[in-house]
Amino acid sequence: MSNLNKELDLSLLRLHDLLESRWLSPEKVFSAADENGDGHITSDEFTLFLSTLGVSAWSEQDSRDIFNHFDESGDGEIDLKEFEDKMLQISQVAKKKVTYQKVDPIPVDESTRFVSLVAHNEMKSVLLKFVEEQRDFFSQVPLVTTGSTGKSLQQRLGIPVERLVASGPLGGDQAIGGMISENRISAIFFFKDPLSSHAHAADIEALTRLCDVHQIPYATNRASAIGLLMALQEFGLDWHMDSDENSILNKYNQGQSQVIAAVGQSK
Ligand code: PGA
Repeated sequence: MSNLNKELDLSLLRLHDLLESRWLSPEKVFSAADENGDGHITSDEFTLFLSTLGVSAWSEQDSRDIFNHFDESGDGEIDLKEFEDKMLQISQVAKKKVTYQKVDPIPVDESTRFVSLVAHNEMKSVLLKFVEEQRDFFSQVPLVTTGSTGKSLQQRLGIPVERLVASGPLGGDQAIGGMISENRISAIFFFKDPLSSHAHAADIEALTRLCDVHQIPYATNRASAIGLLMALQEFGLDWHMDSDENSILNKYNQGQSQVIAAVGQSK
């Protein structure tokens, strides 16, 4: 890719990271993009395919540039071999170590809802890799993290953490639970280590319970995290916020209104 301009390099690397993070092999991508299944991807098919990849979508110009890059022969179509060769070339460039620029924090106020990132020690590198692959997304949403998870993220990826609570075992998971009760959490990615016991197991369970009470999407491993991320990219951070859907909470609130009314009337 050395003969390409820098912007196209970045677009290609972004495409590579996105496809890799969704576990899509070049063959799978090719057949998904080859809408009519004729063994060739046209420029229209390619643009349509890119548009299905969510908020990290490319401009029309980006799509055209990426398409032209893949269309080595210049015949206006990409065949499987061209596609695989280019993907291999991009993945070799992507493997070189990248140093990230620091990103500015997002301004937050008392109504901001955060995306929460937490990882047990054994899973920190898995979470960091996941966030690195999705750096565009996680740089653009307000983050709350537990202490050590957040410090590792900031150090290694240069992604700012807008709110850093205590370390999990020291109350950080409870602090995030408190934010759920105040409607300040949009989603939680908590990469759990299922093969170790944890001193703060009770806090983790309490956090899980609050997610269920308030219907907060909660991904506890990489596979579900990919699904949750796709939903957030497609529908935005507040896609689950329709409280009419939350029958448990609605029923509880109705019951409590009656309790409050009855207590208010009693002498
Ligand atoms: P930590 O906490 O990010 O401070 O390590 C994570 C956890 O809840 O175990």
